[in-house]
Amino acid sequence: MEARSNTERHRQRQQKLKEHVDTRVAAATEKKGVLIVFTGNGKGKSTAAFGTATRAVGHGKTVGIAQYIKGQWDNGEYNTLQPLGVEFHIMGTGFTWETQNRESDIQAAQSVWQESKRMLADAHYDLVVLDELTYMLAYRYLDTEEVIAAIVNRPAHQTVIVTGRGCHSQLLELADTVSEVRPVKHAFDNGIQAQAGIDW
Ligand code: ATP
Ligand code: MG
Repeated sequence: MEARSNTERHRQRQQKLKEHVDTRVAAATEKKGVLIVFTGNGKGKSTAAFGTATRAVGHGKTVGIAQYIKGQWDNGEYNTLQPLGVEFHIMGTGFTWETQNRESDIQAAQSVWQESKRMLADAHYDLVVLDELTYMLAYRYLDTEEVIAAIVNRPAHQTVIVTGRGCHSQLLELADTVSEVRPVKHAFDNGIQAQAGIDW
């Protein structure tokens, strides 16, 4: 008897939840590209961006990727997606704490930005990923106004994903979706090495 009333209560709750979700789904009628920001200090920002890129490729979408401050010569996302026709522009100067020459960093950032800007202006691209872009703004390697203008003026159907810690407030305001990844724990803090296929 008790079991049956639990089952019935569960059914009613689920029915209510379904009605609520259905109403919200019906209300979301707008179709357009979105700006997504993955920020915060936890692990998973670039992983989420490349996961989305993989999804998009799986639906036959055209994807372009700019990787700012990615120095790894061997990275799994490139090895998987590039042979599938995804275009990559990799700054390849190493992580910021390894670089010593501000001028050459700025030059490298600018050259990846020129490619990013071209993709943001081209309706051929359904998804443009700007991985680790936030640092380029924080270090003032790129002009924030120029970056924001290019994102605002992109083709209406195009989605843009920005990743990196400490995202600029104007970008956060502009974004349609912002996820902040919070570090609860990280293996590295317990002396566990970064690993191919997990961390890059
Ligand atoms: P991932 O690429 O694994 O999704 P991420 O993009 O969220 O990480 P980044 O700061 O870009 O984070 O990470 C650069 C490298 O540092 C990655 O190899 C990542 O696994 C590692 N990492 C990310 N967060 C942490 C953390 N809180 N502590 C230590 N290492 C981290
Ligand atoms: Mg990252």
